[in-house]
Amino acid sequence: MNRQQAMNLLGITQEDDEREIKRKYHKMISRFHPDSLNEVGEAHIQRAQEINEAYRILSQSDKWETKSVQGTEAHGTDNHRSGKWEQRQEWSGELNEAAFIPRNIYLHYSMNLSEEERKEAQGKLYYQAAHGKYMWDPEEEDFTLFLTSLRHATAALLERTENAINVEDLSCMPDLKEYRFRVQAKLFEYLSMQYVNPLLVLDSLTKPESTDGKGQRIYRFKAFVASEESSPEGWLIASLRPGEYLFPKAFHGNQIQLMNKNRQVLGYLHMEDDRLYFCIIPLLKKHAAQVKLLVKEEDTGAQGKNNGINNKTNGNNSRNSGRGITRGNNKQKANIDFYFRLEDENYTYNSSDLNLKIAETLAGYEKYLRKYSSEQERFCDLFARLSRSNFRSRFHLKDKDIQYIQEKGMDTIRSHAADFVRTRLAPAQIPNDGKQTPMRGHPVFLAQHATGCCCRGCLYKWHRIPAGVQLAEEQQEYIVDVLMAWIEKEYNRNV
Ligand SMILES: [Zn+2]
Repeated sequence: MNRQQAMNLLGITQEDDEREIKRKYHKMISRFHPDSLNEVGEAHIQRAQEINEAYRILSQSDKWETKSVQGTEAHGTDNHRSGKWEQRQEWSGELNEAAFIPRNIYLHYSMNLSEEERKEAQGKLYYQAAHGKYMWDPEEEDFTLFLTSLRHATAALLERTENAINVEDLSCMPDLKEYRFRVQAKLFEYLSMQYVNPLLVLDSLTKPESTDGKGQRIYRFKAFVASEESSPEGWLIASLRPGEYLFPKAFHGNQIQLMNKNRQVLGYLHMEDDRLYFCIIPLLKKHAAQVKLLVKEEDTGAQGKNNGINNKTNGNNSRNSGRGITRGNNKQKANIDFYFRLEDENYTYNSSDLNLKIAETLAGYEKYLRKYSSEQERFCDLFARLSRSNFRSRFHLKDKDIQYIQEKGMDTIRSHAADFVRTRLAPAQIPNDGKQTPMRGHPVFLAQHATGCCCRGCLYKWHRIPAGVQLAEEQQEYIVDVLMAWIEKEYNRNV
């Protein structure tokens, strides 16, 4: 491929500057998302390779250093030196030596691929180009591949912890999946902060719109907030007025929750370019920037007075409501001018703080696995059977139950459980058997229904403990253990 062919392929004209080339490239390659790998065919891969090749030619990447290395034989099972010296290109990105773990750099396949390598690629659009503590450079490393790299690094951390304690069977902990997912999300966030230098990324993605009197850079981003039109958030969005101020209420991972001036939650801020979250949110969290969010006045020239509310009674003009508040796909949406002012030009992130947080998160995960794996393994079969019952699996602790447990502490809950079992289940004859356990009002009641320990009939059905006989001490203890295992499982799922 020569330069002219590359320009044709990406639709580049002589007037396009580097930024425009990048934009066109990103637009084209974004259709080749690695998550859709399984559905793509050879032609699709080839196309992606061509696009990348074209971009490589036009952008004159400086991330690759040509090095002379002794070649390795790629064929066969092990790599042995071929003895030949060859020119090889090696990744030379900026490093964060203090980062918690190294990560992989993935790149899309380019055209200069041997038959052998192409076969090996089989449906994969990317390959591992390097491994190390490399910072993300949005100009060289595709965003989706950067995310893939972080996901893989996060998964490696979790697996390391799981292997270290050698949990027999993770499927014995049905709640683990959810808990693991939350740990994973946290680690992902910390790692992304280690590998993204927000100021550099911001610089490479966009230019400030203006500077204020003190020379501080001001950026303006296109953004919006949207919610189901029949939801409370949707109604609030419908009642927004152009020019009205909105405010960030909270950060959840890489998302910004918005509220109106009455502190009512509207939903999450959406931006056109997902990559911006990775620089904007860390800067905001560190108070290195300030934001101003205004409901947009749109110059569509349409239907002057409409602002979304009227659309409820008149569907015809829902597409032309003007003023940046529109409906579509049953969503109520408000466009937003998102102004972002950089307060601290010398912002630097602190990797050692983050390393501490990562280590703490992993230690918490390990502790959780150790503590509950033994307990859950003991009741593995029982919980598996219970999870197949529609009735039993419907029971969960509610917020107020969690609060109650936090107020009282687990030991108190355990003593309540022992009391309930002794007085309501243990006697040989129970006049109201089958009705002695309320459906709510105490975490232990919920646990009893969820585990088949609600009455003597259920105790027989689920635990083979016969009715009509006084429960022995050890039988009572067993029931309390079952109840507490369920409560702790639920509790940890929610906290
Ligand atoms: Zn029962």
